[in-house]
Amino acid sequence: MMLKVVPENSDQLVPLDPASAADGSSRPLFGLDAAALALVLAGEGEPPWRANQIIQAMYNQYTTDISSITTLSLALRRRLIAKGWQIGRPEIAKAFQSIDGTERYLIDCPGPKPQTVETVWMPEGDDGEVGDGTEAESPSDTKSWRRATICVSSQVGCAVNCQFCLTAKLGLQRNLTAGEIAGQVVAVLDRRNVRVGRDRVNLVFMGMGEPFLNYDNFMAAVRLLVREVGLSPQRMTVSTSGIVPGIERFSLEPPDLRPKLAISLNAPNNQVRAEIMPINRKWPIEKVIDAVCRIRLRPHERITFEYVLLSGVTDRPDQAQELAQLVRGSGLPVKVNLIAWNPGPGFHYSTPKSETAEQFQSTLIAAGIPAYIRQPRGRDIFAACGQLKRTVEA
Ligand code: SAH
Ligand code: SF4
Repeated sequence: MMLKVVPENSDQLVPLDPASAADGSSRPLFGLDAAALALVLAGEGEPPWRANQIIQAMYNQYTTDISSITTLSLALRRRLIAKGWQIGRPEIAKAFQSIDGTERYLIDCPGPKPQTVETVWMPEGDDGEVGDGTEAESPSDTKSWRRATICVSSQVGCAVNCQFCLTAKLGLQRNLTAGEIAGQVVAVLDRRNVRVGRDRVNLVFMGMGEPFLNYDNFMAAVRLLVREVGLSPQRMTVSTSGIVPGIERFSLEPPDLRPKLAISLNAPNNQVRAEIMPINRKWPIEKVIDAVCRIRLRPHERITFEYVLLSGVTDRPDQAQELAQLVRGSGLPVKVNLIAWNPGPGFHYSTPKSETAEQFQSTLIAAGIPAYIRQPRGRDIFAACGQLKRTVEA
């Protein structure tokens, strides 16, 4: 058994045994926060402030090899390596480029149960980016975008079983660690030469998995991304299918350390929602809204309701009216993101016509509710919402 301890001022587990532990676990530094790194260094008789040197190297300079952290003495680097420590950041194994500039990455997560997860880069405000849907080379023009969004996975697969979602078909393979969640972001920042603090990058935790069923690791990753990588939580959005205990915990997080919240509503009433999202039987719409009402919102902050339009199932005009009433009745400041269903093999659903989506949007707007139609990104490379599964190994 691997010996693990929790340092003071941190909720992270630090593995203290050598890498030759019988369970074959590796000892990645990536994913540890300042307090946890200080504990590792204390084991080497080093002062806690040295943790900052490792933090800078891993989270700001995107170093992936202990031997290149030249701010540490050569002797210390050698000792850490000899004891089995490695940076162990998840790495991009493959990249696929869409004609719209979107890139989908398969990211290798090492560790005792190696897995590949999917992460998506969506540039906006760019003109003329091209791709042919095949494997992408390293980006040649790294500044062909003005702002970009990274879509991050929180689990390999998902246990929630929404009837319209391709990720659901995988089932839950495993939770990702905090380092694997934050590591997807840092690997993409590194590839795209993003200058944190200068370039506009948004994060959406809307990739594979249900973040609130991996709550501790997800929030530990957010804290790393805010405190150590330097990204703003106001530019991050987490989406949940409505896991009420997770929303309740989220409502207790300090506002300066939590992302914005999106709820995958997807239906205007419990009957339709339970059909397409079986989780609704456990946590129906009223319970979800009650939990969301407990969140102390930042000034001007809105809750996003995501709503997948399934032709003939959730896109009817009377359902738009019903949704408007539901939103108004909640008393919450809400905006609605309409997502035309992205197709995948083995489903009996179909995508609505664009006029139907526009009519649905107009009904909401006429009722005073901000409503947007989310344009599908990277459909040709299976990078759009709900399409992340194709290339994951069993
Ligand atoms: N598990 C979380 C976050 C990932 S799913 C959640 O469900 O909220 C991100 C969004 O994609 C959700 O709003 C979900 O309803 C939507 N989605 C899933 N499959 C889709 C599909 N095939 N087409 C369009 N949107 C889809
Ligand atoms: Fe899981 Fe979200 Fe897909 Fe539902 S929509 S199965 S919660 S990833």
